[in-house]
Amino acid sequence: ACVTRIGPSPTGFVHLGNLYNAIIGERISHQSDGVFYLRIEDTDNKREVEGAVETVINAMNYFGVHFDEGATAEGDNGSYGPYRQRQRKDIYHVFAKLLTERGLAYPCFMTAEEIEAVREQQTANKENPGVYGKYAKCRDLSIDEIKANIADGKEWVLRFRGQETGENIVVEDAIRGKLEMPRNNMDFVLLKSDGIPTYHFAHVIDDHFMRSTHVVRGEEWISSLPMHVELFNTLGWKQPIYCHTATLMKMDGASKRKLSKRKDPELALAYYQQEGISKDAIWEFLLTLLNSNYEEWRIANPEADYHEFPYTLEKMSVSGALVDLDKLRDISKNVICRMPAQQVYDGWLEWCNEYDKDFAALINKYPERTLAALNVGRGGAKPRRDIETWKQACDFMSFYYDEKFTVSDPMPEECGEAIVKEFFGKYLASYDHNDDSAAWFDKVKAITEEMGFAVKPKDYKKNPDQFKGSIVHITNMLRIALTGHANAPDIWEVSHVLGEEITRKRLQAFA
Ligand code: GLU
Repeated sequence: ACVTRIGPSPTGFVHLGNLYNAIIGERISHQSDGVFYLRIEDTDNKREVEGAVETVINAMNYFGVHFDEGATAEGDNGSYGPYRQRQRKDIYHVFAKLLTERGLAYPCFMTAEEIEAVREQQTANKENPGVYGKYAKCRDLSIDEIKANIADGKEWVLRFRGQETGENIVVEDAIRGKLEMPRNNMDFVLLKSDGIPTYHFAHVIDDHFMRSTHVVRGEEWISSLPMHVELFNTLGWKQPIYCHTATLMKMDGASKRKLSKRKDPELALAYYQQEGISKDAIWEFLLTLLNSNYEEWRIANPEADYHEFPYTLEKMSVSGALVDLDKLRDISKNVICRMPAQQVYDGWLEWCNEYDKDFAALINKYPERTLAALNVGRGGAKPRRDIETWKQACDFMSFYYDEKFTVSDPMPEECGEAIVKEFFGKYLASYDHNDDSAAWFDKVKAITEEMGFAVKPKDYKKNPDQFKGSIVHITNMLRIALTGHANAPDIWEVSHVLGEEITRKRLQAFA
């Protein structure tokens, strides 16, 4: 069984990458009957934002990621906590003392200016950053010197005393395979001057005591691996299996680039909530990014729940994951098309309750009509795929409600004012709301012929001079009068959702 986690930092910004990694962790742990947990990595005071922990928890909830243990909105759940790093200070300090006692850590009094000078000198000399000596100015201070510095009120951090020398380290990454790199050669910081641990120290201690078997995290951490490996070795603990995930990219013209927080709203999970992308759509989208064989599986198993897909780390891409929003909309469309109408209703209403209260009120005012409308065009062998996202549904579905109805498309060019009037007059005269769809269509064809339009569109194409237009123009007039758009679902079905009164009223406006 695999035990893993996500460790988001509460900055107020929940990243698409957080969900990407969460889905991997959730899948590998739950597929193996293991444990998936949430740890809050709040060691960076400066970046912390009020309410940010709740924001992370809510976003994960919204997108259907379930944790077995860890931080929750109500507090901690599980026996390996606390699950918020700030509350684990005492635990880190136990190991800080242990390492110090063993001569493996020491207080360092270097000032920011001194550290900056070291960096500049290194850059100037093109030196490999962090050769022991560089940050190790305070390595050999005597106890008396240390005491005097502290008595003087000098700020200090606790540094790890690098020990390992010799051959490269080799880490078998579950996604990338063998990673070989030089050993750690830096006296890196374990505790910052406020006694809060660095990521490196907290990672090793927490993932050990929270018994993570796997660590799924972004590839930007690969360069820190030598430090983590040395810490695990020094403490005599088994290192977890690392899974370093690819950076999220997008196409910019013909080239790929990293998604940027400043330029690309789609980097924020909130974007997908606001756009009304359902959790199922985002899962399917991320699963296609995560495993190259997902799409194939989906085609072979159109009805299956995506949780049944046998996800594997081995099938992951190592070169950037490409976030393509057109593809996401397409997946979202398919996902909604596969949902039973009641589920579309519930998902859409839930979204409207949050993001379009006006529309939520309409749905609640006309629940039966709304449900019937969501079933339009779904009966046939090739169901219509009109709704792309919950947000777009508010646009697309607006014609079902008089409160939102407007005619936005013009009548077809072939149908001048006189023809429009003539047609709707005739149509209404013979309209019987109780006609079934075949009887209704026979009447439409009869009027079409009577008015000098071709019943078969191809007859009009072949001999345009013989006709005023074709039945396509006639039915477009009907669509536009009823829905406001030439591109709309089946006219007979729409009329029966709207009911006789509204149908007649909308057609009458053109007669
Ligand atoms: N707090 C780290 C981050 O947000 C977590 C990395 C990890 O999962 O170890 O990048």
